[in-house]
Amino acid sequence: MADPAECTIKVMCRFRPLNSSEVARGDKYIPKFQGEDCVQIAGKPYHFDRVFQSSTTQVQFYNAVAQRIVRDVLEGYNGTIFAYGQTSSGKTHTMEGKLHDADMMGIIPRIVQDIFNYIYSMDENLEFHIKVCVLSSSVSKTNLSVHEDKNRVPYVKGCTERFVCSPEEVMDTIDEGKNNRHVAVTNMNEHSSRSHSIFLINIKQENTQTEQKLTGKLYLVDLAGSEKVGKTGAEGTVLDEAKMINKSLSSLGNVISALAEGSTYVPYRDSKMTRILQDSLGGNCRTTMVICCSPSSFNDAETRSTLLFGQRAK
Ligand code: ADP
Ligand code: MG
Repeated sequence: MADPAECTIKVMCRFRPLNSSEVARGDKYIPKFQGEDCVQIAGKPYHFDRVFQSSTTQVQFYNAVAQRIVRDVLEGYNGTIFAYGQTSSGKTHTMEGKLHDADMMGIIPRIVQDIFNYIYSMDENLEFHIKVCVLSSSVSKTNLSVHEDKNRVPYVKGCTERFVCSPEEVMDTIDEGKNNRHVAVTNMNEHSSRSHSIFLINIKQENTQTEQKLTGKLYLVDLAGSEKVGKTGAEGTVLDEAKMINKSLSSLGNVISALAEGSTYVPYRDSKMTRILQDSLGGNCRTTMVICCSPSSFNDAETRSTLLFGQRAK
């Protein structure tokens, strides 16, 4: 059994490599790594549970960060893993990667595979019900609304849940969600940087002999880009959207830091995102924040603000 007294919020920091246009522009590679848990930018150290250098592979990252949470969820805990960082810092690479490529797949497809491998290895007295749900919260088209059931547990209206029996079915659901978004918006890049994307996997187990039941759920969240609005020269609706996103990200930061401080008041109700995640953040849940960073001197200011956001949770 996992130890419930163990610290339940972990902050991991991952740097991507310089990309070819950054190299062509002559950008400098700014992070200096110290040991396994510290990175320095211009002499200032930032500490995390772990820091992952640019050379970290997808499988190394999965083994170090996500594998453990899968086991906990299968033991009946709730959990959340979210990726925070500016656009192009590696959030989607980390969460999804290339969904159908064994080497390049990110943590979502690996988690799905691990869950099904576990199920296939269990004896026949255990019955599993796996339900997944893919959500994209475009802030402008507010089709996500949060409601509460009779036990005051928040749920999202307008999200189709689907029972799945194999990893392939889960991947199909994710692909479908992506295609729907493609149809809804012409500029996918712009859209995805301005919305959060949430993947939920819900696992119910029942022992058919003892009738013992166990439920766990895991939210995997690819957050909207955290960059400051000024940089993109946004106006009008775009600016309003950016403000909404900044607000939801800062509420998330407030919730995480309240949880990390052991504060008695946690402001879950300040944003939709934190209301949705409420029963899977803090308390007896497993929460991991992945702080994604660009190593380029060009993104220096954003990288520092991303690192500071991550430190608030420590
Ligand atoms: P974000 O989702 O934060 O906007 P992406 O995940 O789309 O950023 O990453 C931007 C680009 O950088 C993509 O082409 C992606 O493949 C690449 N990339 C990101 N992280 C890594 C990494 N750790 N190693 C190699 N390439 C990466
Ligand atoms: Mg992305």
